[in-house]
Amino acid sequence: MVPYLSIVIPIYNEEANIGNLWARLSKVLRENFVGEDREWEVVFTDDGSRDASLDMLIAIARDEPRVTVVEFNRNYGQHSAIFGAFSVVRGKVVVTMDADLQNPPEEIPKLVAKIEEGFDVVGGWRQGRTDNDSLFRTLPSKLVNAVTRKTTGVRLHDYGCMLRAYRREIVDAMLLCKERSSFIPALANSFAKRIAEVPVAHAERAAGDSKYGLWKLVNLQFDLLTSFSLLPLQMLSVLGLLVSLLGIGFGVFLLAYRILHPEGTVQGVFTLFAVLFFFVGAQFLAFGLLGEYIGRIYQEVRDRPRYVVKTLHRQDGDAS
Ligand code: UDP
Ligand code: MG
Repeated sequence: MVPYLSIVIPIYNEEANIGNLWARLSKVLRENFVGEDREWEVVFTDDGSRDASLDMLIAIARDEPRVTVVEFNRNYGQHSAIFGAFSVVRGKVVVTMDADLQNPPEEIPKLVAKIEEGFDVVGGWRQGRTDNDSLFRTLPSKLVNAVTRKTTGVRLHDYGCMLRAYRREIVDAMLLCKERSSFIPALANSFAKRIAEVPVAHAERAAGDSKYGLWKLVNLQFDLLTSFSLLPLQMLSVLGLLVSLLGIGFGVFLLAYRILHPEGTVQGVFTLFAVLFFFVGAQFLAFGLLGEYIGRIYQEVRDRPRYVVKTLHRQDGDAS
């Protein structure tokens, strides 16, 4: 059996949600995806849970042949967990979602329908976000959205929503990326031609606590910022150039002042400032230049595929 649809769910200490999740998810799948060419599978990654999650998942997989459990030896984080599942999915369409029922499984058919319209990636766009700790959680995600929009050049409303559908080829392309710090929604968009968003409902976390503390969150934002652009590094050079120019301008102004008003009292301190500005600026410029090199090294080290061939069209042989 080759499934058509693969559902990917990362699990980290979610024992309180798994029962409910599986009940709702399997109902949606059984009702909406029936027939020979619309088989489904669910791949759970147990991301080093320390509660009963793994046992519960294994029990589900024992009863249901369409369920696979990828067991990690320790906790590697949500995005690594999703990658772990990506490496074993077999479906033509891959849907990722969270285990905490913040993403209602009932929305899956909507995403799949959109993919079938011909889109490569379909993102969920959360309507009426209801996070309790609203500002702490929604402000960073607003920031992430803005930065990602700028750096990837793809205008989406909601990069943070993990309820997303991908075409198989996009998942394969993501698997070719070797870097450790990656933010899946943004990475996927860098390989997609046609991207859509569909509004999805959004609920509060059903049970348990968010697995993201402040530090994990900050880390994620930095991953996002640094993995898609060298913009922060380039800003250093720009800043240095500006400060340098300011210093030169100030120096010229002081010189002119001296010449025009020889009797005026321009104190040496101001001249010192002009000189200081120039050198501080020059230093930033130098940092920026170093940054450019480091940035390029970083890009090389990540070893991302430079391009991904979708189909080779030619007269003889089959399209492959
Ligand atoms: N998760 C994971 N590994 C981690 C942290 C989270 O697999 O180290 C999973 C978690 O079980 C959930 C999803 O990632 O299915 C999203 O986590 P959470 O709901 O805590 O994030 P939030 O909704 O607060 O952003
Ligand atoms: Mg959540």
